[in-house]
Amino acid sequence: MKIGLRIDVDTFRGTKTGVPNLCKILAEHNLNASFFFSLGPDNMGRHLWRLLRPAFFMKMLRSKAANLYGWDILLKGTFFPGPLIGERLADVIASVSDNGHEIGLHAWDHYHWQVHIDRMDRQNIRYFLEKGYDQLTRITGKPPVCSAVPAWKCNNKVLLEKERFHFNYNSDCRGRSIFYPVVGGETLSQPQIPVTLPTYDEVIGHKGVSADNYNDYIISLLKPEELNVLTVHAEVEGISCARMFDQFLEKAHLKGISFVPLGTFLHGNIPVGNSSIEPGKISGREGWVSIQV
Ligand SMILES: [Zn+2]
Repeated sequence: MKIGLRIDVDTFRGTKTGVPNLCKILAEHNLNASFFFSLGPDNMGRHLWRLLRPAFFMKMLRSKAANLYGWDILLKGTFFPGPLIGERLADVIASVSDNGHEIGLHAWDHYHWQVHIDRMDRQNIRYFLEKGYDQLTRITGKPPVCSAVPAWKCNNKVLLEKERFHFNYNSDCRGRSIFYPVVGGETLSQPQIPVTLPTYDEVIGHKGVSADNYNDYIISLLKPEELNVLTVHAEVEGISCARMFDQFLEKAHLKGISFVPLGTFLHGNIPVGNSSIEPGKISGREGWVSIQV
């Protein structure tokens, strides 16, 4: 069984510390993965508590702190513009590419996209895609072959704008199988490889899932006959949960599971159908995400 391994890099710290850690772990296991980078200002840095301390985050959720204070206040707190990740950490990003991993665009400004995508018009969307695409091309010396929107917040405008770029595929939603997106009755040219498995912060602290049984829980969700795509975060599995992730790879390996960059699936015999995407809710995640329907 093959798992598509997708690594999302949202922040300056994730890029600086999490990415080299993950590269080291992957090299020890002789694996390649798909890395999706954020290139522009890191306005997420001050919200790291959300990523690094999901148990705390879930407690906040359960205690209705969000309802009490409003998400804006909990998620804000940027007192000065964040550092430009691609500018400051170009060497880290280039080395990931040099090590043979698949390089994809995640965001120019992750935080901005997450918060404002509903109000962004096509020109706006194009601006952000282009900024990230151009910088990633400059850094690695070649255009990124794939992309994945921040926080699975995609819509038809985004899908249409992505057609301007030469992505082999995009990974913009949660779903079950590889598909060509249909927008307004038309089938687009870039396939979607959806994420099929939950992220760490979505399940930890839920339904008896703890750090002790997390790896087994994820393995129990795998479907041998179907598409399996896992997202890990440089900020989480690359830093605070690095040991656990290392053990996960080991455990999976012993069970005969291998890990591949997502693009590998395009060369396999996986059937590709047509689907559309719609906003929906998934357990453990605040707000909407794009879901294959
Ligand atoms: Zn992200």
